[in-house]
Formats: sequence, C-alpha cells, structure tokens
Amino acid sequence: NQDAVASPSPSVSVFGNERRWADTTSYNTKKKLQAWFQLANGDWELGKIISTSGNESVITSDGKVLTVKSDSLVPANPDILDGVEDLMQLSYLNEPSVLYDLQYRYNQDMIYTKAGPVLVAINPFKKVPLYGNDFIEAYRNKATENPHVYAIADTAIREMIRDEVNQSIIISGESGAGKTETAKIAMQYLAALGGGSGIEYEILKTNPILEAFGNAKTLRNDNSSRFGKLIEINFSETGKISGARIQTLVQCMEGERSYHIFYQLCAGAPSKLRDKLHLKSVNDYKYLRQSDCCSIDGVDDAVNFHIVKEALDIVHVSMEDQESVFAMLSAVLWLGNVSFTVIDSENHVEPVADECLVTVAELIGCKVEELKLPLSTRKMRVGNDTIIQKLTLSQAMDTRDALAKSIYACLFEWLVEQINKSLAVGKRRTGRSISILDIYGFESFERNSFEQFCINYANERLQQHFNRHLFKLEQEEYIQDGIDWTKVDFEDNQDCLNLFEKKPLGLLSLLDEESTFPNGTDLTFANKLKQHLQSNSCFRGDRGKAFTVSHYAGEVTYDTTAFLEKNRDLLHMDSIQLLSSCSCHLPQIFASNMLAQSEKSVVGPLHKAGGADSQKLSVATKFKGQLFQLMKRLESTTPHFIRCIKPNNNQSPRSYNQGLVLQQLRCCGVLEVVRISRSGFPTRMTHQKFARRYGFLLLENTNSQDPLSVSVAILHQFGILPEMYQVGYTKLFFRTGQIGMLEDTRNRT
Ligand code: ATP
Ligand code: MG
Repeated sequence: NQDAVASPSPSVSVFGNERRWADTTSYNTKKKLQAWFQLANGDWELGKIISTSGNESVITSDGKVLTVKSDSLVPANPDILDGVEDLMQLSYLNEPSVLYDLQYRYNQDMIYTKAGPVLVAINPFKKVPLYGNDFIEAYRNKATENPHVYAIADTAIREMIRDEVNQSIIISGESGAGKTETAKIAMQYLAALGGGSGIEYEILKTNPILEAFGNAKTLRNDNSSRFGKLIEINFSETGKISGARIQTLVQCMEGERSYHIFYQLCAGAPSKLRDKLHLKSVNDYKYLRQSDCCSIDGVDDAVNFHIVKEALDIVHVSMEDQESVFAMLSAVLWLGNVSFTVIDSENHVEPVADECLVTVAELIGCKVEELKLPLSTRKMRVGNDTIIQKLTLSQAMDTRDALAKSIYACLFEWLVEQINKSLAVGKRRTGRSISILDIYGFESFERNSFEQFCINYANERLQQHFNRHLFKLEQEEYIQDGIDWTKVDFEDNQDCLNLFEKKPLGLLSLLDEESTFPNGTDLTFANKLKQHLQSNSCFRGDRGKAFTVSHYAGEVTYDTTAFLEKNRDLLHMDSIQLLSSCSCHLPQIFASNMLAQSEKSVVGPLHKAGGADSQKLSVATKFKGQLFQLMKRLESTTPHFIRCIKPNNNQSPRSYNQGLVLQQLRCCGVLEVVRISRSGFPTRMTHQKFARRYGFLLLENTNSQDPLSVSVAILHQFGILPEMYQVGYTKLFFRTGQIGMLEDTRNRT
C-alpha cells in the first residue's frame, strides 16, 4: 500500500498540515477510522468515516451525518490514547490531536502535560488540588509520574547533584498564562527539598516584594508582571539552599492600574508614616486616578501593605531604608500632581510652586528652586556652547513624567540590589545553582509596537537556546543507539537573530542610529530598514511605516509609530544631576545608576543638537545588554522548559478556547518541539517490546527468536520503507504514523 507509507515532505510552516498528513489521512479514510474535521469557526471535531468516494467522505459526528472533503480530514488517535500524559505518545501528532489531549486532561484538572522534554501547563484559573506537602513528598519519593512542575524541579535538583552542572527552569507564556504562579510553585518545591538553613524562607519572601513593586493590574491579568525575572538559587554541596540572586529584565509595558505598591502604601500606611510622607488617598493622586481602577476584586491593598512590610523585614531591608523607599514612592505620586503655568508670550511654562512641588522637593531633599529648574528648562549643547532652552507645556509634562518614571525604575533596581545583598549571606554561594526564569512570551497582536519588538527579540534568543538544547538531546539519543542522525533536519533561527543583532546593519543598530538623529522620525527609520535589510529573508518592508519580521512563531508586522521616542530615554542630564545631588536617603542609587549609564558608550554618533543627553543608553540597547546577561547565565546550565498556556481570555475556569490555545502552542514553540521530533524518528520502541507486540502477525516463522531478527522480519513483511525507520542497538526508531498502521492491523487480527 504505497500511499500509506509515502515519505513526509519537509514543510515550511510549523505544522506542515494537509500535505504532511496526506499519507496517514488516506490510510484512515480507506480504513474508515476516526478523523478530525474542522467546523466553520475553526474548531476541530471528531467524526467517524463511513464511506469515501473521490475527494468526498461521509462521516458521522455526534449523531449527525456530514459530507466533507477527504483531504481536509486529519487522522485521529484510537480512544486508548485519550489523555496521554506525553503528547509524544500520540500515534498521530497533529494539531487537533494535541489540542484534544490537552483539553481532555484539563477538563479533569490534569493541567500538566509533557510534550517530549517540555512541560505544558494550562492555567486552571481556580484552586486545583495538586500542591502542598503531600504532593511534594510524592514527587520527592518518585511515588508518582504525573507531569508536574514539582517533577521538573525534582529533575533539576537531581541532575544538579548527579552531573554537578547548574540547572535552569525556563518558564514562558503570554500574559496571564500562569508563569509567575508556576515559578512560585517551583520555588516552593526547591525550598522544601533544599531548605533547612532558613534562607529558603527569605527567598520565598522576595515574591510578595517583587510583585508589589513590579506588578500591576492590566486588562489581561490582575497581577501582571511588568518585568522579566531570573532568580538563581544556590545550593551547597549537600544540596541545601545557601543563597540566591535575582536579575531583572526591563519591560517597558504600562499597566492599566499602576504598580500595586502605590495603592498598598496609600491604603495601609500607619498614620505616623502618612504624616511624615504627606500621604493622601489614592484619589488625590493623578497618577493613580487616571486609570479609573483603584481597587481589584478580592484584593485588600491595606492587608498586602503589611505583608510587603513584613517581607521587607525578613529580607533585612532596614527600617530606615524602608522609610526611604516609601518616601520616594510618595515623591513620585506628588510629582504627578505638579502643575505648570505659562510665563511668557511664547508659551513657555514653569511649575507652580504649590504644595505639590514643595512636598516633592522636601521628600527628595532638594530646594524648590533646584527642582523647578529641570522642570522648566533644558540645557542643550550646540557646538561648544551650552544654551538653556525653556520648555513648553507638553515638554515640561514629558520631563516631569520621565523624572517620575526614572525615580521609580531606580528605586526598583536599588531594592533588587538590597535583596540580593541580603540573600548572598556570608558569600555562601557555591558553584551549583538552579535558576528560574519567568519571562514574557512571544506576542503578536493586530498592532505591534516597540514593546512587542523587544519581547519578541528576547523570545527569538530563547528559542535558539531551546532549539539547540532539543537538538542536543535528540542527537545524544540517536548517537547512543547507533543510528544515523544526519537524516534529521533541525531548523535554526540564526537568520532572524542576525536581522536584529547585526552591526551596523541590523534592526537594533539602525534603530539606535536613527534615535540619535535629531531629524530622525519613525518614517525615516522605516525607510532606512527597507533600504538596508531587504536582503535578509526574515525581513519584509511593509506599507508606510510598517515592517514585517518572520519569527520562529510566525510573521509579525510592526508599526514603527513612536519607536524612536520609546527607544530614547527621555530623561535629560539636568534631571540626572538633580537626582544625584539631592539629599534624600538614596542619592547613591541615582548617582551610580544614572551616571554609570550616561558614561557608557552610545551606539551611533553624538549629534550636535542632540545635546548632552544623547549620551545615554537607548532603551533597546539596555534591554539587549540585560538579555545577554541573562542568556550568559542560562547558557552554562542544563535547561528545563515549562510553557504556560491560557485556556481562555476571561480568566475563568472550565473554559477551553481551541483557537486561543492553538495560537499559544505555536508561539511558545510546543508545536515546534513536536515538529522537530516529527522531522526525526519520534516513535521509539525497544526490540523486545516490538517483537512481543507484533511478532504474532508474522506469516512465516523466523528461524530466530532473537527480538532484533523478529523485528526486522515484521518490518519487511509489512513493507515499511527503509526511510521510515532506523534500527538502533536497543530500539527501533520510526517516523510518525507508522505504528498507527501496525496497531490497526494488530487490532483487526
Ligand atoms: P504576566 O505575564 O501578566 O505576568 P503570568 O503568566 O505571570 O502573567 P500569573 O500572574 O502567574 O500569570 O497568573 C495569572 C493568574 O492565573 C493568577 O493570579 C492566578 O489567579 C491564576 N493561576 C495561574 N496559575 C495557577 C495555578 N497553578 N493554580 C491556580 N491559579 C493559577
Ligand atoms: Mg507574571
């Protein structure tokens, strides 16, 4: 039966689709088995093939009889494979089968499923009975094999000890998919197994702090992380936790509500602190009021303030430092209320010297006049001269907001550093560690801007890491069993990374260059891209100001509107000088942070009219720098991957949107894993098992009882083509779908 064993053609898209499935589909149609057919809304449904003529098949589904195009049918797995815990166990590894398996498990609260080496976690949006000490014990004692975050963490610990190699757990997924919760679940397991010294308790307490300062409510997630995080947990030789270190990755996303800590402070600060910081209530602050969303259902900001304060105590942030942190928060809030008044006929403005301005000056420790200056003027360097330019209302407001943002950003960085100092107790960090990465996943919206550009670039890097790791794993298994692995194709995304990183003609370099040109606009930037990058196969110039990148997860069209502005750090030298000279408790953080940044080299030439401030690092360059630091750390580790999936957009339990899940499976590379495995020989069975299972189908007895000979005889009898399998030392390796046919024959015999 020739078409049943047609060799699969290499496909371009992630899931090669119809053509790849043609072989097995026609087989299934002939044999009148179950198959998937697609509804008008794109969802897949299961049907049983009754008859086929030409390219039309009659199927029954749910009591109805339908006629569909035969080549649109996709083979379904036998019922016995319903809800398998590893997608690789599926005989037919196609999109609907993968979707169905995940849904089948999700409906029974089995939210974790393996996809080969990757753990897929579907957000249950409700409490599921899968956590806590009993479960931790079960995984520690290997009493269960169900896929779980605990199992991943357990493997990481074991491999760290066994191989003496650092490990990492890389968690990704889109907003609201459950990354941060998953990271906490992994930490919980590591703390339970590696605990004892008490430091694990401190490590767990970093979570409420970082969430208060780094998370905000958005439309998609009430507790959305606005930064990427890598926490490295250190272990001693005896496998006990000895310290930790946190690294962050800036993400320039804004929330719908501001950071939780502002609301917590306003709601929970005791009256003495309120007086000292001149705190008012949430509704009195412009920055907090503008979102129209002051509270979150089921969240008590006042209670959370106390939880955060307690956590700060536990990680040894002193009372004095805590008060400084709160003072800076108050300064940021008051800064948002600063208003301006027109002072001349050219519409130049200066800040009104009212309670707001006075309070900010008091809180950050400078004179009112000193604060007024950067909020009403800007120093510009023209040639060798410095001129002072007065600001218009919109310039002044931008400067004010940039100042507020940067105070906050520095505060966050400083806090992370304090936590790191505290967790590096006695420098007991040894060489062994497990790092947990909680980072934003690939994004593709109708309209994609600078934020998606940065995020997707980071994910492209992570994907390369992922591919290389998978490739290595596969290769090792093939080599170990003595088979020819050159027959396996692996895709590489190096071209796409080059598109971003090449100097001087790559997306990032060109963006930085254009950002330093005073006359650069989003349009000149877009045109420059089109002029220089057309030769890269991953790039396509688009209409107007847009361009398209072929990412591993699909094509994304970026709109360059506001790219340059978002890439330029709007904070001017005058503000930097103000912050580093003020007498608040944290001048060292501003001084060291800002000046260090401003001294580093810039990408692109210093432009005359750009003034002193064009010396600062661009946002994209800073992002790339932090990303490289993260990657450097990850590259020396053995990675374990967890992909979080959001089953619906309503944050509701029990609802499973196939289209939404499918799109995420594509973006987070799960289908890619499946595809990579499929491009090799994903089905594996030992000679013994194969001989035992199919040996009785042999028409002629072989002389030998040796499993290898029996296996080979079976392969010959069924006419399985040589390119469809390989014979290893211990196992047989099959291309996808082959076992399905043997199973079918076996069942009918
Ligand atoms: P973002 O990228 O916006 O930070 P995220 O992927 O980190 O999103 P989480 O904050 O971890 O998403 O999860 C969103 C919400 O989903 C949680 O607040 C929680 O209500 C729910 N959730 C996630 N994982 C679980 C789980 N394992 N059990 C119960 N609820 C969960
Ligand atoms: Mg998060």
